[in-house]
Amino acid sequence: MNPQNFFDTHDILLLDGATGSHLIAKGLPTGECPELWNISHKKQVQEIAVMYFTAGSDAVLTNTFGGSFLKLSSYGLQNRTHELNYAGARNAIEVKPSGRFVFGSIGPCGKILLPYGEVSEDEVTDSFRLQAKSLADAGVDGFMLETFLDIRELLCAVNAVKQVCELPFLASLTYQLTPRGFYTMMGTGIEEEVAILIETGAFAIGSNCGNGIANMVQVGQQLRLASGAMKLLLKPNAGEPVLKDGVTCYTEDASDFKKHFFELGALKPLILGGCCGTDAEHIRTLRQLIDKTNNKP
Ligand SMILES: [Zn+2]
Repeated sequence: MNPQNFFDTHDILLLDGATGSHLIAKGLPTGECPELWNISHKKQVQEIAVMYFTAGSDAVLTNTFGGSFLKLSSYGLQNRTHELNYAGARNAIEVKPSGRFVFGSIGPCGKILLPYGEVSEDEVTDSFRLQAKSLADAGVDGFMLETFLDIRELLCAVNAVKQVCELPFLASLTYQLTPRGFYTMMGTGIEEEVAILIETGAFAIGSNCGNGIANMVQVGQQLRLASGAMKLLLKPNAGEPVLKDGVTCYTEDASDFKKHFFELGALKPLILGGCCGTDAEHIRTLRQLIDKTNNKP
């Protein structure tokens, strides 16, 4: 089965929850490259994938969010781009139950595009292409291009994926609620996202991070209005981050997600998951709710 066939018989595909906070809980020190753990702490990385598959995720993401050549260069690890991404994909694929999926996670490169910043679109595309090729070679079922604040950088990632394979990709921006509505940091609104991303042939388009479940329902409703019958991706945070005794905590638990599930269900076809602060309990709760509604006649 591939992700496309999945939607012949289902309305909602369930992704995983947060990865970074679980790596930290397992001992990832501040300032260490999370992708390095794909080699140095393979067991701990695989435990997170197993946790989400067990909680009911139809697909988990690879621990490669910061695995682009440019992002790894901030740790001096750019020469290990292939190795770290390939291992990240294999870690998840090795524990994947049959009938489930692994999507290669690709996040921002950490640098700002010209003319505001220092890198060209060609450099950024090249940087993502190395990453995408390694993930594809390792056998991912598709890609999750996530947490982009600049739609131009997201388009570089889209082009990079298309240059190396024909696998499906999910394309996702992060929005902030402003007095004028939801906009990315670089000023893209929801209708503009839809107009631009539909043209790319994305498997799903949507939003992750930056918002808790209530705001994300609104983002989803606006995406649905603008996109017609397109598959939408929604991956809310567990509410707002708050600092408690020097530790970042999040304010929404699984019951908050449950409260809004009825509104989410109206937005099908959907790819749902959790971003920062979410854990296996959020995913288990969504699994139970989805299983009550997810069968197409
Ligand atoms: Zn997040």
